[in-house]
Order: sequence, then structure tokens, then C-alpha cells
Amino acid sequence: MNYKFKDNSILEKALTHISYSNEKLKDKDFNYERLEFLGDSIVNFLLAHWVYENFPSMDEGKLSKLKAALSSRDVLARAARRLGLHEKLRLSRGEEKMGGRGKNSILSDVFEAYVAAVFLDGGLETAREVVFHALAPELEKVLKEGGIAFDYKSALQEYAQGLGHSLPEYRVVREEGPPHRRKFTVEVEVLGKKFRGEGSSKKQAMYAAAKSAWESLVGKEREIIKDKFFLPSHRGEKEEK
Ligand code: MN
Repeated sequence: MNYKFKDNSILEKALTHISYSNEKLKDKDFNYERLEFLGDSIVNFLLAHWVYENFPSMDEGKLSKLKAALSSRDVLARAARRLGLHEKLRLSRGEEKMGGRGKNSILSDVFEAYVAAVFLDGGLETAREVVFHALAPELEKVLKEGGIAFDYKSALQEYAQGLGHSLPEYRVVREEGPPHRRKFTVEVEVLGKKFRGEGSSKKQAMYAAAKSAWESLVGKEREIIKDKFFLPSHRGEKEEK
């Protein structure tokens, strides 16, 4: 982790899940819940400021959607993993068994709590640096492509790794049709299960397999960013509702 805390106890608090404080600590309130409350607002404020500054002619409806995509559970969970917060998180044994360390709902909360801890310890500008650093790949994508799409392959890989499993393995199991209309079937093996996807290229079929694995493994936890957010230069296009 980049930021060096003056007060380490606040960092510790940000990395303590309520299941751990309930089970192992005398002080049952020594967990990230209150920090998460504060961090949620800080992250939203910083991202609101960022989209406001970077998209001067975007209306507030789109700014709000763009901000929501950037502060979605999956994106913040990824940011938490990039900072290595999932490794330092303190969970009860029960929560650990239930795969808490890999849950995007928990990891996005840890990220928010961590941001609040940085803010309290090092001030707003430091918190801004941490947030922009942790979200750099998504922010760059937004600037370059005008939006972010959910990447099932990376998400699946991060999910499996987060649970301590080996990387998803992909293999082509079928290839058929004439050269100009080839159809590929790819199978992905992850967490001991197999899923399939089809496509007109290996890459497309891999992606379809990853999507099917993600949807069945992660299910309700997902928060897919469906909308494409347009840069001001695309404003001539139809408004999405
Ligand atoms: Mn939260």
C-alpha cells in the first residue's frame, strides 16, 4: 500500500470486518462500518468532481450515470484488490469460510473505509491521490473511450484469485463451419467447474465463456455496467433513457 499512516490504528480499523470485531475483539465497534459510511461520501464526492471537471459539456444526468459506473461495487472491489486490501482484511473464521475475502460487496466497502481512513489521517488531497491511483485503469478508459464496459474475463480472474483459487483455464473444445463462418466453442474451468461459450472467434468465445461463468458463480453479487457513456462529442446521438 502506498500511503504510510501516521496513526496505524485507523488503518487497522479500516481493515477490520464486523464479523472479526464481534468474534475476536473486546471493542465490538472496532470495525470499518463507520469509516465506510464516511468513505462512501468521499469517494462519491471525488468522482463527482472528477467527472464534472473532465466532461465540461455533459449534462447532469449523464454525469450522474458516469459517476455511478465508476463508483459501482465491482469497480471499487477491483480498486481494493489493486491496493492489496483483500490480503490485509481481518475476517472471522466463519466469514472467511464463506468466501468473504472474495466478495465484491465486502471489498468495495473496505475500499471506502480505507479512503476514509486516509482522509482522516492524511487529508483530502491524499485521499484524492489514493482514489485516482486505485481507479486509474477505469478513469483512463473513460477518458479514452468515453465509457467503461464490464470486463468479464478480468473480473473472473480477479474473483478466482481473490478466493485463493488458480487462474481460470480456457480451451477450445469445438471448431466448426466453413472458414468464412467459423464457430468456436470455448470451455473455461474455474473453481472446479466448467462453463462454455460460443463465438465467431476464439477471443469472442472465451469472453462468452467467462461471462457465463461469472453470471453463474457470482450471480446476485454482480453489478454490471450496461450503459455506454458518451463523450460530449457524441452528443448528437439519441439520448438514452
Ligand atoms: Mn459501501
